Amino acid sequence: MRLLLIEDDPSLAEGILTALKGEGYTLDWLQDGVSALHALSSESFDLAILDLGLPRLDGLAVLKALRDRHNPVPVLVLTARDGVQDRIVGLDAGADDYLVKPFDSAELKARLRALLRRSNGRAEPLISLRGVTLDPQNQHVTYAGCDINLSPKEFVLLHELLAQPDRVLSRDRLEQALYGWNEEVDSNTLEVHIHHLRRKLFPELIRTLRSVGYMIERQP
Ligand code: CA
Repeated sequence: MRLLLIEDDPSLAEGILTALKGEGYTLDWLQDGVSALHALSSESFDLAILDLGLPRLDGLAVLKALRDRHNPVPVLVLTARDGVQDRIVGLDAGADDYLVKPFDSAELKARLRALLRRSNGRAEPLISLRGVTLDPQNQHVTYAGCDINLSPKEFVLLHELLAQPDRVLSRDRLEQALYGWNEEVDSNTLEVHIHHLRRKLFPELIRTLRSVGYMIERQP
């Protein structure tokens, strides 16, 4: 899962990035509304964490522009404004949830999990499919009841595919989910991770659609 954090306060942003490290997300960070709108319109993100008070274009304007363009990316609004009216305006503008600063990082994590679950059409916290069970909270995977040891990248990839069963995910999208902006993409790496997942789980789990991408089907 790839998340975009849009927050102009560096210390708060660093705090959030640190808190979310090790949660199994790929995280990118921007500090102004114009760059955020551009990134969310041109790349694939599973969720945006959006501050309202931002330079160049405020968070509410970013949100309205996204929804005007029918961009459905789930948005968690961060706001220092504790007025009820701001929260109502945010929700009416298309926010999926909000947190008032200062907030507890455990609450942030729980809200992110809930939003990602909902956006993938699930109510239950565990993803279970064809004998494979993935627990996003504990970043734990089992197959046929046995623990499976995955690298962080393998986990991100499996999570992305399992959360959207029966949907072909393009190479580009999967690479964005894996690497974000801070890491170089090696042209072989996605294939290598897929190969490892097939070996650690079972080969037929992940289907290759030549020159299109990869998918996991609910039913073989
Ligand atoms: Ca701000």
